[in-house]
Amino acid sequence: MTCLECKKELGYVDHKNAMDSLGVELCVKHHKRMQELIKKNDTPLEAIQLYYGLKEAGVNAMLEWWNGKKSIDIAISRVKLNIEIDSEYDKLTEEQAINNLEEAMHSFKNGFTTIRIPHIVVRYYLNETVRNIIGIMEGLKANIKAI
Ligand SMILES: [Zn+2]
Repeated sequence: MTCLECKKELGYVDHKNAMDSLGVELCVKHHKRMQELIKKNDTPLEAIQLYYGLKEAGVNAMLEWWNGKKSIDIAISRVKLNIEIDSEYDKLTEEQAINNLEEAMHSFKNGFTTIRIPHIVVRYYLNETVRNIIGIMEGLKANIKAI
């Protein structure tokens, strides 16, 4: 059991605390830092889990990236991919849905691709989600080369 951020060895209690509250293995310092980030940005837990899932797979992503207008849950700048975790997609109103579409349109115009992932997909299919994102990144990279 080591911290996913700094590789520090974790004791039983520290490991349990981090797993119980975030679902990821973090030392006391990085656990605290993550909780401050959540408090500040209202970050969904699944965004943190996906961020570390991507990191484990060797993908360099940013958590809570400020794009000048809003904070994006996860951004992969190399291929200009923004990932938003939909926590309450089941309660999505038509107004929120059209706002999401409009946001996606604006980010496309700026060269960014936005994908929205329902939080339960991250929770139950983390490995598959990571694999699909890596596939999307490869597709985007190929398209960038083609232009
Ligand atoms: Zn750490």
